[in-house]
Amino acid sequence: MAYEVVIMRDNVWRIEDGGVRSYLFAGGERALLVDTGFGTGDLKSAAAGLTSLPLTLVNTHADGDHIGCNHQFETAYLYPAEFEYYAQSERASENAKPLPLWESDIIDLGGGSFRFEVIHIPGHTWGSIALLDRVNKILVSGDSVSEGAVFMFGPVRSLRAHIASMEKLLARAGDIDAIYPAHGPTPIGAASIEKLRGAGVKLLRGELPALEPPFDIPAKMYMDAGHGFFY
Ligand SMILES: [Zn+2]
Repeated sequence: MAYEVVIMRDNVWRIEDGGVRSYLFAGGERALLVDTGFGTGDLKSAAAGLTSLPLTLVNTHADGDHIGCNHQFETAYLYPAEFEYYAQSERASENAKPLPLWESDIIDLGGGSFRFEVIHIPGHTWGSIALLDRVNKILVSGDSVSEGAVFMFGPVRSLRAHIASMEKLLARAGDIDAIYPAHGPTPIGAASIEKLRGAGVKLLRGELPALEPPFDIPAKMYMDAGHGFFY
């Protein structure tokens, strides 16, 4: 399958994989690939066609639609709280060897280009992370901040932890102009963090109506101002 590749800004691409996307950042010395989609194509070649810089792969989390091409890479950086879930994935034995990324670690792409700080934001999964570039004011959010409904049912998820993570991100909102999520519209504004936090609080209080999801999942959909959860 051919990917749809769209330029976000200079040296930044989104690589669309039919409902989920990866992001590629080319810096002064190295490139950063964030997530690897469903695994329907040859993502490594697609990335190599966009930049010849040495590539670092980071997974925002280990849901199947974010690690689908991890078997094409030698190593992948994940938050250690995600290692166990990653090891349970379908192609675990073939997948890139996990390397740890910790809170406040910096991924510097060199030459004053992009410099991402790791922020642990559990809730969607135990080890979900966001990557914040304070100079370019970009937050790469994985699934944890997006428009539409965030998956919040099943064993690796915690709505209470997610609310706390949104509060953590709110403290950094002054450093964020654009959020790059893995699903739905992109980029979105920093206001989505507060909207999602508010939706989570209302959901816990039982203030949001249960809607039927648009596909067959063992959960209901709860929405508030265009943001919400499958829960
Ligand atoms: Zn996802």
